Amino acid sequence: MDAKGKLKVMFLPFPGQGHLIPMGDMARAFSGRGVRATIVTTPLNVPAIRGTIGKSSDLDSDSEIEIVTIKFPCAEAGLPEGCENTESVPSPDFIPAFFKATSMLQPQLEHLLLQHSPHCLIASAFYPWASHSAATFNIPRLVFYGTGVFALCASECLRLYQPHNNVSSDSDLFVIPHLPGNIHMTRMMLPDYAKTDGETKYAELLKAIKESEVASFGVIVNSFYELEQEYADYYEKLQGRRAWYIGPLSLCNQQERKGKRGKEASVDEGDILKWLDSKKANAVVYVCFGSIANFSESQLREIARGLEDSGQEFIWVVRRSDKEWLPEGFERRTEGRGMIIWGWAPQLLILDHPAVGAFVTHCGWNSTLEAVSAGVPMVTWPVSAEQFYNEKLVTEILEIGVPVGVKKWARIVGDSVGGEALEKALKRIMVGEEAETIRNRAHKLSEMARTAVERNGSSSCSLTDLIQRLQSIQN
Ligand code: UDP
Repeated sequence: MDAKGKLKVMFLPFPGQGHLIPMGDMARAFSGRGVRATIVTTPLNVPAIRGTIGKSSDLDSDSEIEIVTIKFPCAEAGLPEGCENTESVPSPDFIPAFFKATSMLQPQLEHLLLQHSPHCLIASAFYPWASHSAATFNIPRLVFYGTGVFALCASECLRLYQPHNNVSSDSDLFVIPHLPGNIHMTRMMLPDYAKTDGETKYAELLKAIKESEVASFGVIVNSFYELEQEYADYYEKLQGRRAWYIGPLSLCNQQERKGKRGKEASVDEGDILKWLDSKKANAVVYVCFGSIANFSESQLREIARGLEDSGQEFIWVVRRSDKEWLPEGFERRTEGRGMIIWGWAPQLLILDHPAVGAFVTHCGWNSTLEAVSAGVPMVTWPVSAEQFYNEKLVTEILEIGVPVGVKKWARIVGDSVGGEALEKALKRIMVGEEAETIRNRAHKLSEMARTAVERNGSSSCSLTDLIQRLQSIQN
């Protein structure tokens, strides 16, 4: 405990929005319970953290969160200067160098552990060495994966049983062995790193992550127990590690932050809200593919075509500033009915607006859980990482979404989905009896999510339990 008898926790998020944002939310959840929180990140990632936790002046002095910076070794790892997060990685060829840079942060982290003497380290799973660092300083390390537990189970069953090695072609279906729910996949949907004949560097990293989890105090999951109950129970059996479900973290932080998080939005939030206020309930489709996914121009044109032909109202987030690729006259023809946000959207504000009736999403875990929390049905368009597993959870287990029909994991999305497929999925999720059933289910889950983070809710109790355990180690 510090001089005031407070537990001190250090947070080390992986430098990508999908980890920076929920770790910022998590630090706020801990500090709201009287924990002294310190977040370690690199200089260019401070705005994303600040944008999530708020300015110091927004926090009362007792729950102030300290941000400490370390240098990201770009030059040493062979990255361009300023490439400090996943968004700024210039091309997939630089991904190994990016991971190399993150593996070089250990000495700086250990220096901070010495200086700050925290009682616990919460580090993203992509830092497998963090369990060793924590052990050196005789403190517990908790692992944060940034995904739900269904994806963790699916990924572990695939790693253990390798069913994809027993099919004769990349498009043959196989069942994920021992995973509840009879989930079918194809090799094409698997992350490169899950295939043993793929890049073995990633297979090694995956193994190191698992070993470091076994050596850790346990796992923190940004989910709520009721959402993935069967898989939560299964994971504990599978891994033998304790896991705490303390999410949805966005809901823990949202009230104070009024939907603000991550980077500064590229649009005036008041303008967006005004536009949405002018629409009927559940009438608008929100389209956004997170912070990393890259689409080819022809694929973007197909999205434009699908949105236009569907006749639905929409907000579409496009992470670029040039417009030449847009179909001729698109903005004129969809004026008043559709809006493009060029850059970064205030996603939580949009999802929480009653006018939003569906979310076309890449199934990044944060986006997925934010949609669940807001009760918004999804059209699932997975791209990479563990997103194909998340799609299965949404469409087959929770049944709150319909797939657009992506067949292949991709680092850069080429022509994988035609405009007609998007148009068809939009009609299915927005209009008719099936849409109504899906919407009702989504609303029920949203209520469950809100209950989970309230006083005496499962996530709230889980956080209390975790903090008490950490405190008891100190006493
Ligand atoms: N996000 C946002 N505005 C955008 C795009 C993304 O606020 O225009 C947020 C989104 O709400 C989520 C995070 O960025 O919290 C993206 O995380 P996710 O796991 O969904 O996807 P990733 O970016 O890691 O692929």
